[in-house]
Amino acid sequence: MRVILLGPPGAGKGTQAVMLAKTLQVAHIATGDIMRAAVAAGTALGLKAKTYMDKGELVPDALVIELIRERLAQSDAKNGFVLDGFPRTVEQARALKTLLAELKLQLDGVLNLEVPENELVDRILKRGQSGSGRSDDNLEVITKRLQVYREQTAPVVAFYQSERGLTAISGVGSVDEIQARLLKVLKR
Ligand code: AMP
Repeated sequence: MRVILLGPPGAGKGTQAVMLAKTLQVAHIATGDIMRAAVAAGTALGLKAKTYMDKGELVPDALVIELIRERLAQSDAKNGFVLDGFPRTVEQARALKTLLAELKLQLDGVLNLEVPENELVDRILKRGQSGSGRSDDNLEVITKRLQVYREQTAPVVAFYQSERGLTAISGVGSVDEIQARLLKVLKR
């Protein structure tokens, strides 16, 4: 099964994507996780990505698209995947479309987790306080990430609406309730 999970920062995408990938027995591919690992390892990609991530800005499309191209070519992705945090721009969505066509693969679902904006900041701040250790979970960077979401990522929702359809899922409720909603849509 090949799924894209969309949603603003703080919607709970990461938690839900990990659970979904486990249940579906497919690869969990999160561009943010891959780049944080590259930053920690001090690779060339990490060094480039860090300057953008620290400010809450998007890493340039070309870098992220190349990273996804390489990741989708790995053997564990052959079984399927849950994409988490990608695509973040319409250019990335178009590049993914081309890549999937090259690989002769089709998407089984595009799901959009919806959470009211006033709840998002609270949730991210709580994540920062709980010591999950992300350096970009502070108010200044969160505000920037939400602005970037509105300007650059919200258009991705419209892109999939017009391309193939997308399912909106309420991201309000318990982790298990939300997971059940996602699985129900994929089973249809
Ligand atoms: P995330 O873990 O998905 O919240 O991503 C953390 C940060 O990594 C973002 O604020 C961006 O700087 C960067 N990032 C993650 N995914 C992407 C992407 N698809 N395109 C550009 N930047 C990304």
